[in-house]
Amino acid sequence: LNLNNARFEITAVRPEQYPKNDLPEITFVGRSNVGKSSLINTMLNRKNLAKVAATPGRTRVINFYNIDDKLYFVDLPGYGFAKVPKTMKTGWKDIIETYLIERKQLKKVIMLVDIRHSPTSDDVLMHEWLKAMRKSYVVVATKLDKIPRTKIKERISDIRSILKLEDDVKIIPFSSETRQGRDELWDEILDESYF
Ligand code: GDP
Repeated sequence: LNLNNARFEITAVRPEQYPKNDLPEITFVGRSNVGKSSLINTMLNRKNLAKVAATPGRTRVINFYNIDDKLYFVDLPGYGFAKVPKTMKTGWKDIIETYLIERKQLKKVIMLVDIRHSPTSDDVLMHEWLKAMRKSYVVVATKLDKIPRTKIKERISDIRSILKLEDDVKIIPFSSETRQGRDELWDEILDESYF
């Protein structure tokens, strides 16, 4: 996989706007401001491919990043941003749900939570949904550099218990500042039979 050949391909809202091929897709979900754009940039060794939001919660589209014509990273809109009108929230929910329900080539969902905070009711709902839909997923705990090393275990077990994760579901601690967790997440993404 040549990461130098990673590029933004298209923005979509509705299924007919999604890329028209059947490359495998790895899809990123999480609350607004969780560090999703930063993580995508870190994974792809870029500074600005995915825009790190100046105003959280504003992206209401799906961004498709083409990685070497072999794989897409799919960036779903951040959910759970409080300060938006209800109608907008509904829009996001539709966009996320429609993609997750309809997209056949979705191979794995990467669900991001902030390592510093307990998952919110939105996170719990998202997780229950992924489980009920029998998606393959891993949880990434972002902003690892913001907590002392001595707290990591306790934070991970709090996240695990609030989301009620099964024992075989991984939580990968990750930092876009130090790049910790990057190799482990790539292993998780590439350790599949879809290539
Ligand atoms: P998104 O809304 O989920 O795409 O989140 P962004 O990637 O835009 O990040 C939101 C804010 O958190 C920005 O100010 C980032 O610089 C910051 N941030 C993201 N990841 C990390 C991280 O791993 N460590 C630290 N210290 N800050 C981060």
